[in-house]
Amino acid sequence: MIDMNPTPAPTEPEVDDIIINCTPEESQQRLEKCQSCVNFYTDEDTHTKCRGCDCNISMLISFKFKECPLNKW
Ligand code: SF4
Repeated sequence: MIDMNPTPAPTEPEVDDIIINCTPEESQQRLEKCQSCVNFYTDEDTHTKCRGCDCNISMLISFKFKECPLNKW
């Protein structure tokens, strides 16, 4: 049998949240850059999105591991 995830499960979720989530300041900085970007748009369901990666802006600005396809942040 193949072990698909050898990494142990996190034991302290509050610590993992700090590592994964952007700070409010980081999120705000990303949002401001996205809002002034040519790739920023609002879809028919009123979700704000990025044309460069088709991601929801809310996800892009929330998680540290997300990357801007234009390297603006
Ligand atoms: S993630 Fe980058 S490319 Fe996409 S809208 Fe934001 S600044 Fe623009």
